[in-house]
Amino acid sequence: MTGNSEGVAQEERAPLNWPVTIVFGLTFLAAVTIVPWYGFTHGYSSWAWVFFGVFAVLNGVSIGSGYHRLWSHRTYEAHPILKGFLAIFGGMALQNSIIVWSARHRVHHRDVDDNDKDPYSIGRGFWFAHIGWMLRDYKSGEIDYSVVPDLYKDPVVAWQHRWYWTLVWATNVGLPLLLGWIVGDVIGVFLLAGVLRLVVSHHGTFFINSLAHMWGSQPYTDENSARDNHLLALITYGEGYHNYHHLFQSDYRNGIRWWHLDINKWFISTCAMLGLARNRKRVPQFKVLRARLNMEFKRARAKLEKAQDNAGAGWREQLENEYAQFAETVKEWQHLQMERMQLGKQKIAEKIETETASLTARYRDLERSLKLQHKRVALLTAQVTF
Ligand SMILES: [Zn+2]
Ligand SMILES: [Zn+2]
Repeated sequence: MTGNSEGVAQEERAPLNWPVTIVFGLTFLAAVTIVPWYGFTHGYSSWAWVFFGVFAVLNGVSIGSGYHRLWSHRTYEAHPILKGFLAIFGGMALQNSIIVWSARHRVHHRDVDDNDKDPYSIGRGFWFAHIGWMLRDYKSGEIDYSVVPDLYKDPVVAWQHRWYWTLVWATNVGLPLLLGWIVGDVIGVFLLAGVLRLVVSHHGTFFINSLAHMWGSQPYTDENSARDNHLLALITYGEGYHNYHHLFQSDYRNGIRWWHLDINKWFISTCAMLGLARNRKRVPQFKVLRARLNMEFKRARAKLEKAQDNAGAGWREQLENEYAQFAETVKEWQHLQMERMQLGKQKIAEKIETETASLTARYRDLERSLKLQHKRVALLTAQVTF
């Protein structure tokens, strides 16, 4: 963690942001008192529960697939219809406009764990990263609009920014009241689909800034505090694979295996099938494997460091042999990348086609060799017990 502790201490006395504190405080209070009380005394209709579930999912997916993966990181392109949908239900989540949210999030990635610059740095504790950063006007939370010039050009984003508060009132109060009136349960729908849904949706997202920087594994990098966590992924629609995401933020996926619980990835892919999304960016498999192996070598070395002088000598040699082989594979891959770039410059279509097929085969070979090595190194590390 970096950061100037004196600066942070001064920041703790930053002025309280009353409107935000009151909204968070009152909605939370209502969710833990009035909502259960009304349930016990009057009961909720099935419709109230259905609207609660549907809006909670729509908010979560719009923040994850829209605010986060589409606008903050531009990991795919979306049709205006999809953008409109994500802007409306993302706005309903009451987490500020796309522009403000993305500006802070881009700074979070750029200056992650820097207590003076990261708006929700985990170095300042769970409470601060979770919600505290919004309750006071901290210097680290100032919005740097210079990091989102691209977003102003997006008409849907500009429209949402302009009408943000109208959208918030219409979706959080107007919509639940209207639906409640239609199904004959005005108070029930308002309390579940309005109040409880807002609080659940808030804290679901906030966990990504707090718990996803504290709790879980670091398979790809330990250069920052972000963690991968299956349980968090489940309640955040896939955003819990945060270690991967911080290293490969241009990837539209956060959970890269087919069985990873990444609902946002499945949502974006479904939209792509329907023609509403395109150009989904993926990080090459080789780079992902390279990051994993790098971490495994780092861990294995740290484990051997702890070993007594002679006990680890045999393992050390094996490990260094593996590492030399790994470095060789990476070098070959880099050569291949250069070859592909040069090939891309050649305009002779026929040649490109034949060459590309052989290049693809060589890429696959290198990926396969990293996968095998990944297994060997894992086995080797597991055997080292001191
Ligand atoms: Zn991100
Ligand atoms: Zn993060």
